[in-house]
Amino acid sequence: MNTTENPIEKIVILGGGTAGWLAAATLANIFKNTPLKIEVIESDEIGIVGVGEATFPTIISIIESLGIDLIDFIKETQASFKLGIKFEDWGTVGESYFHPFGTLGQDIDSFDFYQCWLKCKAEGDNTPLMAHSAESTLAEQGKFFLPHKAKNTPLSRAFYALHLDSSLAGKYLRKFAENIGVKRTEGLVEQVNLHANGNIANLVLKSGQQIGADFFIDCSGFHGLLIEKTLKAGYESWAHYLPCNKAVTVQTKSVGTTPPFTTSTAKEAGWMWHIPLQHRTGNGYVYCDKYITDEQAKQTLLTSVKGEVLTQPRTIPFTTGMRKNSWLKNCLSLGLAQGFIEPLESTAIHLVSNSIAHFIKLFPNKSCNPALINQFNENVRIDYEEIRDFLVLHYSKTSRTDSEFWRWCKSMELPETLEQKLQLFKASGALNIKDGELFRSTSWYAVLDGLGVKPDNYNPMLNIWDSENLKAILTQGSQGLKDIAKQQPSHDQFINEFCKAKEI
Ligand SMILES: Cc1cc2nc3c(=O)[nH]c(=O)nc-3n(C[C@H](O)[C@H](O)[C@H](O)COP(=O)(O)OP(=O)(O)OC[C@H]3O[C@@H](n4cnc5c(N)ncnc54)[C@H](O)[C@@H]3O)c2cc1C
Repeated sequence: MNTTENPIEKIVILGGGTAGWLAAATLANIFKNTPLKIEVIESDEIGIVGVGEATFPTIISIIESLGIDLIDFIKETQASFKLGIKFEDWGTVGESYFHPFGTLGQDIDSFDFYQCWLKCKAEGDNTPLMAHSAESTLAEQGKFFLPHKAKNTPLSRAFYALHLDSSLAGKYLRKFAENIGVKRTEGLVEQVNLHANGNIANLVLKSGQQIGADFFIDCSGFHGLLIEKTLKAGYESWAHYLPCNKAVTVQTKSVGTTPPFTTSTAKEAGWMWHIPLQHRTGNGYVYCDKYITDEQAKQTLLTSVKGEVLTQPRTIPFTTGMRKNSWLKNCLSLGLAQGFIEPLESTAIHLVSNSIAHFIKLFPNKSCNPALINQFNENVRIDYEEIRDFLVLHYSKTSRTDSEFWRWCKSMELPETLEQKLQLFKASGALNIKDGELFRSTSWYAVLDGLGVKPDNYNPMLNIWDSENLKAILTQGSQGLKDIAKQQPSHDQFINEFCKAKEI
């Protein structure tokens, strides 16, 4: 037998950022009626990275699977709702597109909705693709309503995520985890001792205290104190696909209404985010320092933000990529210690949660069977590469040629996996989305269409449909969405009525 013999009795998590506390909360929740002990070590001297405010819809299931009341979480983290991302100036300066969560229209007689739309378009119908998205229609009108409360209407198909204050989210998860038995130790880890077999034995704090465990989870942020500095897992850089290597961030007072979406605006050497929370807006410029100086990036950010600036601009360097092995010996890495993909599609918290889910499925005993380790590392690689390819699409299919950065993006060599996807799409608008992939066909269609990438043909099978009939079905669907969206409260009205946070 495996885990029943020689079971893990104690896990130490190094790091109390979002990754550390999410891991602690999830594991403690699962193992709450078992003898397994969980301890988090975090250092006030180092602090947390403190950015990471836009999320993916999986945040809702993460919160609910912990048994946390979603409305309480929203109030405590000053969260607002996110129906998708508005991309400005990515394809061409002056144009924008929307990437919604959820699905587009509904398949008709088992024909993919996108194919139906392509056929109508080929025959002269100019209705935009996004007129068939519940999230995009709500977002355009600045409306929000919880999809599960809109049963039997097309809005019930909508998905949403949150914009949240990451420091408050970390504190919330910490309180939750401590309440179910997680021990927290404050202190700076200065030394890591190994067993003769290379496994980690214990961590030594500045105070001299030694903390041992059977298994360690490295959530120590970018430098990866355990997985990299100690175990030398190695890092695979993807800078040749995603060259942005810095972000400058600043918080501002919110002005005007709260949009139910993140805004991502392409700039001369990267892109800028605006993330509206209830009490303030998070802003940042992600850029490549080969094409613009830190000072220029800072000034571009400061001249683009609206509202009073609340914090000093902060520059954070990074290298896009992932650990060659994110589980090595008796140490698993999560969050920034595991890898970094720029926040263009807000995937970091999702990746932490998905890695925890892989770990739980492959939970080891003290011997850490290498087969479990290999499978985990393969699963994580698949997750990262899928997101990488989707992000590369955003840059590489631009029509912009107005700066050196964008000219480079247009000419970059694509990952083979992305190249294959694009060739299939080009043939007839088909996509090969595998089970478990995060970005489903709606996401790919939204970005491809937004960037003006068109297939050569639609699937000729669609010709068995009478064009007028098909067009009438599509028009009825988009009109229905528009009408029902109009009846919903504005995003601000919804927040004020159901989940207004305390003033802070
Ligand atoms: C510019 C930028 C924008 C981002 N935007 C988004 C976004 O919109 N959405 C999203 O989901 N994610 C985003 N992310 C990612 C997100 O910030 C992180 O994934 C998330 O905050 C998790 O960070 P972490 O917990 O891995 O690391 P950190 O927050 O850096 O925490 C590291 C922890 O380790 C502890 N530690 C480190 N060394 C020691 C030591 N020697 N001894 C004791 N303790 C130690 C620290 O005290 C701290 O508690 C963004 C990241 C960046 C850089």
